Amino acid sequence: MINVTVWGENVHERTNEVVRKVYPSGMHTVIANGLSQDPDIETTTATLEQDEEHGLSEGLLDRTDVLTWWGHCAHGQVKDEIVARVKKRVLEGMGLIVLHSGHYSKIFKSLMGTTCSLCWREAGERERLWVCHPGHPIAQGLGKYFELPHTEMYGEPFAVPAPHEQIFISWFEGGEVFRSGLTYFRGNGRIFYFRPGHETYPVLYDENVQLVLRNAVKWASPAGSRWIDSCPNVPIDQAPEPITKQGEGLH
Ligand code: ZN
Repeated sequence: MINVTVWGENVHERTNEVVRKVYPSGMHTVIANGLSQDPDIETTTATLEQDEEHGLSEGLLDRTDVLTWWGHCAHGQVKDEIVARVKKRVLEGMGLIVLHSGHYSKIFKSLMGTTCSLCWREAGERERLWVCHPGHPIAQGLGKYFELPHTEMYGEPFAVPAPHEQIFISWFEGGEVFRSGLTYFRGNGRIFYFRPGHETYPVLYDENVQLVLRNAVKWASPAGSRWIDSCPNVPIDQAPEPITKQGEGLH
């Protein structure tokens, strides 16, 4: 089983009538339900105001193989100590899937090391997501492209580092394009940024979006053992090979 923790900010869904109508039980619930269609995926949800740790206890993160992250209006309310806790787990090998406006989350910006800014427009326009990498595990089961009939536009430049792989590129009705599916490796962890997920449209119910998320969870799930961070000194007598001529300048 792959243990997935679905983290949702869950603020718009409670405070904005339009969003509440689209996601009455929260966006995190819809994401979790989509992932649960795969019998190999076990989901837990966590939200910003669930408790003092935003639902992300050490114990839960310790059991989490892949964390999905959706946030928008309350990035600044996520405590730095929780961001550090999540980052440590990613570096150890936990997968991280960052959705849509999560591009501006503390955790994504910290792992990218850049501003992660982009341009945007809310006009309810059409988006066509072209598959750039048909052989990639995240793109399996899709055609050459899929479309979302009404969504928010995100456009380039997207201020992220060059990705390891680009899985999707989006075209929008208004003419902009955007690198909408990107993979990264940080430490022992795999990261996937996926653009869809605007809160006022039923994007997260879309079958193709849910398929990509299930594929991404499987791709990001850690394949091997954890990489626990340390920086050990290796004494001369423990070197794999004998060092017979030591140089000058030792302290
Ligand atoms: Zn949005």
